[in-house]
Amino acid sequence: MLRVEGLCTAYGRVSVLKDVTLEVHAGEIVALLGANGAGKTTLMHTISGLHSQLSGSVWLEGAKLDAMSPHRRVGMGLGHAPEGRQVFKPLSVADNLRLGAYRRKDAEISADTDMVYAMFPVLGEMRRRVASDLSGGQQQMLAIGRALMSRPKLLLLDEPSLGLAPLLIDQIFEVLVRLRAQGVTILVVEQNAAAALTVADRGYVLETGRIVHSGTGRALLADPAVRNAYLGV
Ligand code: ATP
Repeated sequence: MLRVEGLCTAYGRVSVLKDVTLEVHAGEIVALLGANGAGKTTLMHTISGLHSQLSGSVWLEGAKLDAMSPHRRVGMGLGHAPEGRQVFKPLSVADNLRLGAYRRKDAEISADTDMVYAMFPVLGEMRRRVASDLSGGQQQMLAIGRALMSRPKLLLLDEPSLGLAPLLIDQIFEVLVRLRAQGVTILVVEQNAAAALTVADRGYVLETGRIVHSGTGRALLADPAVRNAYLGV
């Protein structure tokens, strides 16, 4: 589904991603772990075209995305729920979701909105409220719901559990498992390594811009280096 090959990026003269290669296969949840500043968000932004690379390539279902604008990448099947609940705060919940479908003209947009409300009932209850009235966790759900409205083949999720109460974190991971069952492929950045590796088929660990470990979720959970650095055990 996704292939990232030899990706190098920088902010000015400061190199961030150094020869990053990874794959996400159709139907997988893949977790991307790493300390603060490792380059996880930069990698997500480079995949979705919000940041350009110095070298290397990004492929989605065999199509090279490098020269495509972010909105064309959405049309190719990339959905991105960015870090930090970047929803349109003055707009209603319903309008935020409708904007997630801005490239679509089909008749199923309203059915998909109902699907998001079924997945996150609190969004349905608050559909007419402005997004700035929502709690942080509710805004997080709205950002995920909005990304789903483009009917992505591959969903990029940047720290979906950030700042959420434990019960809500469980709910977010349950949603990821449900989405995978519905055929959505997911690449998820998470600080919550234990929860992410429990549901992930595979994972990668990024350290100062390089992939230093990779493997199945189970193998990474059992890896002493990963346990020591990211699970605190
Ligand atoms: P976190 O877990 O804290 O969100 P991250 O792994 O997502 O971290 P990035 O946000 O990708 O890390 O940042 C990687 C490096 O790039 C950091 O050293 C950061 O300071 C730097 N960086 C990020 N954005 C910019 C920017 N706009 N300009 C300059 N440097 C940046």
